[in-house]
Amino acid sequence: MRLKDKIAVVTGAASGIGKEIATAYVREGARVAIADLNLEGAQAAAKTLDNSGTRAMGVAMDVTQEDQVDAGMAQVVKQFGGIDILVSNAGIQIVEPLDQFEFSKWKKLLAIHLDGAFLTTRAALRQMYKQGRGGSVIYMGSVHSKEASVLKAPYVTAKHGLIGLAKVVAKEGAAHGVRANVICPGFVRTPLVEKQIPEQAKELGITEEQVVKTVMLKDTVDGEFTTVQDVAAAAVFFAGFESNALTGQSLVVSHGWFMQ
Ligand code: NAD
Repeated sequence: MRLKDKIAVVTGAASGIGKEIATAYVREGARVAIADLNLEGAQAAAKTLDNSGTRAMGVAMDVTQEDQVDAGMAQVVKQFGGIDILVSNAGIQIVEPLDQFEFSKWKKLLAIHLDGAFLTTRAALRQMYKQGRGGSVIYMGSVHSKEASVLKAPYVTAKHGLIGLAKVVAKEGAAHGVRANVICPGFVRTPLVEKQIPEQAKELGITEEQVVKTVMLKDTVDGEFTTVQDVAAAAVFFAGFESNALTGQSLVVSHGWFMQ
């Protein structure tokens, strides 16, 4: 058990990658708060992991809302007694060409990815610094933290931005033993990706099969999707690494789509 009795908050964990990270963390001995816009989904996910509520809890949180983030984190501290790990994972995707991108959609995406990362980080750091036992902050970046793709201007911008934020947290957090790192997955077949396959097909005028083969997996070494389990394994590794030797880094988990 690599995370025995650690307390983790995972945002966007009612679905997809976050849900699998929450599952892996509980398996590794952590107590996990599943924070999500979708409270029902968060509570259902928590119940599946631990029916008694002692190792997993669902928390209502829109990560773009300062009051909801602060209240949600306070609820975790009250119920579980602290915060040792933050996984800032909540995210969405919107695909449109840049010249047609609506400003409101641009702002919505940046708010979820960047305001959300900032607000949850600030709340977690306040608690971690107060506790004085270090901590781990993990951001869900993407290959799009390193590379660009057409149709994804705000997403690519936000995911690059998370690397900057992680580096600042690494520098400021070091004196408190708080580490910050970024996981950069390739395409993972979650609802976020299932939704964009037909959208990209329409925008690019190709079939859905072509989107998968010629857009999503074209540059991988083996034509394979990354899995939620692959990403969760990286999240366990970062969370369980106990010194400042591993901080300010980004790890690409993408079947070789992007090589450092
Ligand atoms: P998903 O759609 O399966 O899950 C996203 C979760 O975030 C949902 O439960 C949703 O309710 C929640 N959410 C959305 N807006 C929120 C908000 N404002 N506040 C709180 N929760 C909110 O998506 P996923 O594929 O698991 O994506 C998770 C993260 O992984 C995202 O940051 C995404 O950008 C990143 N990512 C995904 C892939 C991929 O291929 N799926 C690849 C690289 C990175």
